[in-house]
Amino acid sequence: MSTTGQIIRCKAAVAWEAGKPLVMEEVEVAPPQKHEVRIKILFTSLCHTDVYFWEAKGQTPLFPRIFGHEAGGIVESVGEGVTDLQPGDHVLPVFTGECGDCRHCHSEESNMCDLLRINTERGVMIHDGESRFSINGKPIHHFVGTSTFSEYTVVHSGQVAKINPDAPLDKVCIVSCGLSTGLGATLNVAKPKKGQSVAIFGLGAVGLAAAEGARIAGASRVIGVDLNPKRFDEAKKFGVTEFVNPKDHDKPVQQVIAEMTDGGVDRSVECTGSVQAMIQAFECVHDGWGVAVLVGVPSKDDAFKSHPMNFLNERTLKGTFFGNYKPKTDIPGIVEMYMNKELELEKFITHTVPFSEINKAFDYMLKGESIRCIITMGA
Ligand code: NAD
Ligand code: ZN
Repeated sequence: MSTTGQIIRCKAAVAWEAGKPLVMEEVEVAPPQKHEVRIKILFTSLCHTDVYFWEAKGQTPLFPRIFGHEAGGIVESVGEGVTDLQPGDHVLPVFTGECGDCRHCHSEESNMCDLLRINTERGVMIHDGESRFSINGKPIHHFVGTSTFSEYTVVHSGQVAKINPDAPLDKVCIVSCGLSTGLGATLNVAKPKKGQSVAIFGLGAVGLAAAEGARIAGASRVIGVDLNPKRFDEAKKFGVTEFVNPKDHDKPVQQVIAEMTDGGVDRSVECTGSVQAMIQAFECVHDGWGVAVLVGVPSKDDAFKSHPMNFLNERTLKGTFFGNYKPKTDIPGIVEMYMNKELELEKFITHTVPFSEINKAFDYMLKGESIRCIITMGA
């Protein structure tokens, strides 16, 4: 029986309070409205950003809320005006979007869509300012327009990438966020040439994805920098060839790296969120041609300080959001890279849990044990 136009009752993992375990609830999911699609989620994974907003230490708490933004699923039904997606399409919802109409979407250089750029404060749909989730008539907030910790969710069609239906959703679901962010930071922004050296600051999921980008680009040396030595073992699988722990050295990391590389690395990618690491990542690139790319999200009051001479000596500093990928236009191509065996995803997936045990995924991440934990819906 078709569920089109009907309310769907299904399971969702609801965060009722900051930092408290999610609770499995039966929720009602309203049909998609104008420019929206309703998606049956098959796999989702946990990212640091979910944990960060669930802990709600640094921002306005918005509860009850359904988190989740890395996922893969199948379109169940589409709302008015949706022409590029139809029931049955295999899709990845994305936390940021591409309306196709704004100046950013028209620019080849930008992915910062005016309409659908990430908004962590909004817990409702843009179309009517209402939530599509409820329990006994009480609305539950959305998270970054995706809310994938639910068997069904409603997403703006501009935040939905249609992908190859042959792609295994339990693997490619991680392409929705962290993987693309790091990969794109290297491939689209740092753009190392074959044989060049790359330093990666921060070897979490984003940094390891940046390392995967360096491998794909044919970098000769990939130097991993992290304060946590436990990260080094894992990083070897990602083609990181040398390691620097700033704590092991009396001199600044910039100097350590300059000595290792005859004056500096060709490219660096910062994936820590630490402003010190951002400055180090910039100052460790070679003069004349070095390019540093910032990915990590700093604290509110941070300020970046470096001597202007570092710029005059022909070093370049850039920053990137979501690896400069346009969600609808570019994400299907990353899935194809995986299908063509150019991109390896399996090594990012360290854990798998059934949906009913979603809180375990939080434990693995909080203990720093997981890179990515896949959550299987309907299990
Ligand atoms: P993570 O916490 O798993 O990894 C960060 C790593 O950095 C850790 O291993 C930590 O030990 C290391 N680190 C911290 N300070 C350091 C320092 N001073 N020097 C060297 N290493 C240091 O985080 P993640 O999920 O991989 O995300 C990395 C960053 O990327 C975060 O700041 C996140 O908010 C950001 N992010 C940015 C975007 C974007 O579009 N720009 C998207 C997603 C995530
Ligand atoms: Zn736009």
